[in-house]
Amino acid sequence: MSQAPSLSRTTSSDLPHTEELDREVQAVLDQVRRDGDRAVRDLTMRFDGVAPEPSRVDPKEIERALDQAPAALVEALRASAANLTRVGLAQRFSEEVVDVRPGVRVWRIWRPLQRVGVYVPGGRAPYPSSVLMLCVPARLAGCAEVVICSPPGKDGLPAQNILVAAAVAGVTEIHAVGGAQAVAAMAYGTETISRVDKVFGPGNAHVTAAKRLVSGDVAVDMPAGPSEVIVVSDGSVPSGWLVADLEAQAEHAPDALGILVSTDPAQAEEIARLVDPKYATQIRVRSVASMEAALEVANAFGPEHLILACRDAESWLGSVTHAGSVFLGSHSPAAAGDYATGANHVIPTGGAVRAYSPLGLEAFGRTLQVQAISPQGLARLAPVVEPLARAEGFLAHLRSVQTRLDTTAAAERHFPQPRRNVAAMHPYHWEASDAEVAKRAGISEGEVLRFDTNTCPWVGATLADLDQQELNEYPDSNYPGLVSAVAEYASCPRDTITVGAGADELLQLLALAFIGPGDPAVIPSPSYAMYLTLTEAAGGLPVMAPVSEPDGVMRSARQARVTWLCNPNNPTGELLPTGFVDELARQSAGLVVVDEAYFEFSQSTCVPLVRELGNLVVVRTLSKAFGLAGARVGYAISGPEVAATLARVRPPASLSTTSAALGTRALKDAPTMRARVQALLQDRQSLAGAIRAMGFTVSPSSTNFLLVSCPLGLADFLEAKGLVVRRFPQGHALRGWMRITVRSGRENARLLERLVAWDGPRAS
Ligand code: PMP
Repeated sequence: MSQAPSLSRTTSSDLPHTEELDREVQAVLDQVRRDGDRAVRDLTMRFDGVAPEPSRVDPKEIERALDQAPAALVEALRASAANLTRVGLAQRFSEEVVDVRPGVRVWRIWRPLQRVGVYVPGGRAPYPSSVLMLCVPARLAGCAEVVICSPPGKDGLPAQNILVAAAVAGVTEIHAVGGAQAVAAMAYGTETISRVDKVFGPGNAHVTAAKRLVSGDVAVDMPAGPSEVIVVSDGSVPSGWLVADLEAQAEHAPDALGILVSTDPAQAEEIARLVDPKYATQIRVRSVASMEAALEVANAFGPEHLILACRDAESWLGSVTHAGSVFLGSHSPAAAGDYATGANHVIPTGGAVRAYSPLGLEAFGRTLQVQAISPQGLARLAPVVEPLARAEGFLAHLRSVQTRLDTTAAAERHFPQPRRNVAAMHPYHWEASDAEVAKRAGISEGEVLRFDTNTCPWVGATLADLDQQELNEYPDSNYPGLVSAVAEYASCPRDTITVGAGADELLQLLALAFIGPGDPAVIPSPSYAMYLTLTEAAGGLPVMAPVSEPDGVMRSARQARVTWLCNPNNPTGELLPTGFVDELARQSAGLVVVDEAYFEFSQSTCVPLVRELGNLVVVRTLSKAFGLAGARVGYAISGPEVAATLARVRPPASLSTTSAALGTRALKDAPTMRARVQALLQDRQSLAGAIRAMGFTVSPSSTNFLLVSCPLGLADFLEAKGLVVRRFPQGHALRGWMRITVRSGRENARLLERLVAWDGPRAS
């Protein structure tokens, strides 16, 4: 049951909209259009009682405002801007090329507006938060110039807090001009204020009228009138909280509205009683029979803000059709969105949510559309063009197609475009294969020694160790035997474990499940190359952070969707303290992946942290210490929520029956692995000592590989005898170094022998 409530309100079209106001504002617009700066100066003197000359605020004043502002305010503005940035990154334009037919390709590309104008009211309450809401998205969208106009106070400057917020948003062109004359200056341009492509921002009746009147000549943003909230309640949230929400809305301005729609009559009564009487005309309370009825009321009104203060709020979201900004659940007050969540608080009012969205990046640019047609593609389109062109009587249209078809096109190969980011990404590169190295060195493949793959010189389990395999059947895709063996080896519950075809498959599944187009993913650099490859393949935004600056990595990680940490790190061999990872994961809103491919050599693990931190996942492999790189077995340890997500995207049986059995077998023989690792660590020490003794630099390592200085030509010199080391390409942070895997004593001796023969320099 629902009754249509009589919820009247002021809409933007109800704002003072008289012919007289329009005439007055039009006169201002005409004067500025005609007389430029002189008119702006005269009008500013008339309306504001000062006329700063020039109108542009000296950058020194902006700096001074920032220096003098309370540190807590600046810090809060910076945090708010960072959250807006994080949300804005997800709004960046991203569309694929469409192969419509073979040879007919259509796409759109983003072009930011070149110059945008932001009006910031002075008057009763200058809102620095609004400066961020308007200017941060403009910057992120790529607008080259952002200009703010805001009325001068007695000192001839806009409000100090507006200058501070502008500084935080990186806006340097600010004019102390307000009212309709500011809108006119931005719309038509003057000698000192160049015209803009679009005017944004709220304002009083004169500003609103001016924006409406210039809208034929310049683009303007959405209609914005008095602020409003509807709070839908089922009685489950304390009344005092909801009263505060309603009063928070009412305190914006005398015409702001707060409406409670409750399915709990007792609560509705209580709230009506608790509301401060000074807001009696602005706050209304309605009682309805059901949540459905409450949402019907809300949808009919189409509020700027809608708070669903009810149980299981997200489940009602599907029933919301008309609202600007929605706040879910007991702990989501609109005030959090006004300042801090990163959602935009510039939202259409007065029912305009029916046709307009809250401010987003898309408002600050536009798209171009592009068509690329091959000869065969045009032939395919001709049957569509011809009848339509004839029907419309456009014979030249027809000719422009037909004349091109007269030249018979050579048959062409059509291939579909990969996704944009795949076409542009950095694929993974191996060193040369055994066969290539052997051929170049004139030796047999068996003589090639791989010091580049960080594998071990032992085999963890062999086919001879296994029982008969039922290879005609699929493996049990829960891999119970392997999961149990991992659980026992890693001392963690079975439901925290996901197994896969090598650590690489798990890293790939994590990227697939957690990184979407434009999502920032932090990649310490240098680190394992696959993090960049997988991030780019998923369409994410790689945020490179030098591994040598852990504080920077931690800062970037706060707002990343995924942070990739390799611990110990390949290729530097360094180990991050687990305390650092703990702190980073606590600060990060996203997933933190700790790749412990080399755990067995460092014996340092973040697995115990997984129990407490739901956003942490540890990935390990049997390719290294367990000597099973060829079998492709890896596993992830995470909270059950991340494990359930991985299960959604995991192929049904990517790990073969044989690999799972080999992995299980090897894990059960962990003591043997540990003894081998101990011996290898001894060998690492002697190998490092011997290489250092020759004059090369060897950095400390917590892994089974060493980072060694590599003068030009040395890697080729080694490879000429079949000894393959890992090199780093031009431009890489480790150019001039090589990564050498510690192998068996005999194999290491072959490497040393060859290094002794090198008579070139020791450093790059
Ligand atoms: N992570 C790191 C840090 C690695 O060095 C490697 C292999 N070089 C992998 C993951 C991939 O391991 P897997 O063989 O299990 O796919």
